[in-house]
Amino acid sequence: MSTRIAVVTGASSGIGAATARHLAEAGFEVVCAARRTDRVEALAAEIGGRAVACDVTDAAQVATLAEEVGPRLDVLVNNAGGAFGLAPVAESDPDDWRRMYDVNVLGVLNVTQALLPALVASGAGVIVNVGSTAGRLVYEGGAGYTAAKHGTKAVTQTLRLELFDQPVRVSEVAPGMVHTEEFSLVRFDGDQAKADAVYAGVPDPLVADDVADAITWIATRPPHVNIDELVIKPRAQAAQHKVHRV
Ligand code: NDP
Repeated sequence: MSTRIAVVTGASSGIGAATARHLAEAGFEVVCAARRTDRVEALAAEIGGRAVACDVTDAAQVATLAEEVGPRLDVLVNNAGGAFGLAPVAESDPDDWRRMYDVNVLGVLNVTQALLPALVASGAGVIVNVGSTAGRLVYEGGAGYTAAKHGTKAVTQTLRLELFDQPVRVSEVAPGMVHTEEFSLVRFDGDQAKADAVYAGVPDPLVADDVADAITWIATRPPHVNIDELVIKPRAQAAQHKVHRV
């Protein structure tokens, strides 16, 4: 049997990097894609994969990614994404909202369109989109991000309908609070104190490996099994607003 190939976008940190490692351990050759070339190159060297510099919002770079992948692909993990800001609607910067829509929704669209033929050609493709609990509810200051992640969910569900007669499964992993190094730092534009406050006192937030484990489980089910969605939160987070802190 030929080596199974997986693509992970946003593989330069956090959930994406952990997922690339888990998939490699599960036997996949992983194509690690992100904007920070040095990081994806180091990761690819570590796990015996391939690195591609790719901004998922840039059609030309996504086309290069598709060329590098070639005619057959088994698993696509659309993980690249993120939040910018936590301003109320009345004060939000529309540019932040545009960037969030760009990466969390149009990024999924671009990469999926480019790689779908290869996923179909594998005869048993899997797409796992990394959404969020922010795609299931809303919270104050979060409208730009929750709107974008609701968008990720809508794309995922629509794609599953449209591909109903194709050999491609479509799943969404929707994590709650995951303590990754960069997510909140990016959200608060490098303000470490604000980023740390998100996780302050939470006994055990999820870590990237927890989500990577879930994604890898989805990607390795038998070809007739479609995990539609998997919501994963730390025990301390009973709901978005109900977080145990000590
Ligand atoms: P990180 O900030 O660590 O990871 C984000 C990744 O996305 C980075 O590797 C970044 O790489 C990449 N990325 C960002 N923009 C682009 C782009 N335009 N093109 C290509 N890659 C891009 O955060 P997490 O690992 O925590 O988040 C990963 C995913 O999980 C995101 O979709 C996020 O929304 C989602 N999520 C996170 C949660 C959390 O609490 N941490 C909870 C729920 C969902 P680079 O800058 O090198 O391009």
